[in-house]
Amino acid sequence: MTPARFPTLAAAAAAMILSGAAGAAEVAPTHDLPFPEGTPTVVARVETAPVARAGDAADDPAIWVNPKDPALSAVIGTDKKGGLYVYDLAGKPLQFLANGRMNNVDLRAGFRLGGREVVLVTASDRTNKAIAILTLDPETRQLADVADGVQESDLSDPYGLCMYRDRKGGETYVFVNDPTGLVRQWRLVATPAGKVRAEVVRSFALNSQVEGCVADDETGALYIGEEDVGLWRFGAAPNAGDRRRLVAAIKDNPMWKADFEGVGLWAGKGGRGYIVVSSQGDNTYAVFDRGGRNRYRGSFAIAPDPASGIDGVSETDGLDVVSAPLPGFPRGLLVTQDGYNVSPSENQNFKFVSWADVATQLKLD
Ligand code: CA
Ligand code: CA
Ligand code: CA
Ligand code: CA
Ligand code: CA
Repeated sequence: MTPARFPTLAAAAAAMILSGAAGAAEVAPTHDLPFPEGTPTVVARVETAPVARAGDAADDPAIWVNPKDPALSAVIGTDKKGGLYVYDLAGKPLQFLANGRMNNVDLRAGFRLGGREVVLVTASDRTNKAIAILTLDPETRQLADVADGVQESDLSDPYGLCMYRDRKGGETYVFVNDPTGLVRQWRLVATPAGKVRAEVVRSFALNSQVEGCVADDETGALYIGEEDVGLWRFGAAPNAGDRRRLVAAIKDNPMWKADFEGVGLWAGKGGRGYIVVSSQGDNTYAVFDRGGRNRYRGSFAIAPDPASGIDGVSETDGLDVVSAPLPGFPRGLLVTQDGYNVSPSENQNFKFVSWADVATQLKLD
């Protein structure tokens, strides 16, 4: 499959619009960006309300599956210019928490805090160069700050973020990286007063800018996207050192185009499943096996749906995916940030894709 020629003028114009040159008014984009001809496509089933900030503002989602009532699950999305949204499965905002420039967000349920189990949420906080730590109330689906004061990251600019639960030891960790390629890991510790603090346990470095990451709690793998290089696999345990394997080098496949951005895990039963990576440079998503040597299974794009009026998805930053069946998403939900929320032209938002559609298109199990 050969990549189509991109309409470079249109793409450049769109890029200029979103880069928001100093003093220039930010003009909303009017069209999605193209993906290579012949790429298998799916459509988004739901799109969220636009974020309040113009330009490149929405960035990264995290999906919470409600174990009691899947219909009352939630999607948290960052507005990197000002805070965190919580959306319901129809894409309607339930909350906006203006807690600063939150870049990436992730969560783990079942964290012991104050004598009960809570849904713990962390976000990379560029305002305070810190790790924001919150809970998501399963009844009200509202976020509340539980950090034991500002949890300083000691990073130049906290950027990508993902969480890890050690299935054996039960500890919960958070990884945060910065644009120099530095990655740090912290253990999240409950205090007697019912707050949470972050204790650094490990640091390692890649050679260039990193951001998207995901940890696999069952296999102990940590996947990190080095934006111009490819997808790396590390160990997620704090004593895993800096041993790594390059799962996919962008230069090795014409369907992969820098930046590699959001990374997510569709975790099936018995260690089966898939890793999904946003190939931002050609507006596609690459899918790899979760197990073995992480074989490449193919790529897909999210096209506009004339029937629903929901536009396609371009230039995705962050994404998240779950395998749990949710209403309207029988084999799980993929949420992607959309760089160009058009028809009509509005601020950026997040799109909800049914994993069943992806599985059909790529002939996955
Ligand atoms: Ca962006
Ligand atoms: Ca995320
Ligand atoms: Ca990035
Ligand atoms: Ca779009
Ligand atoms: Ca739209």
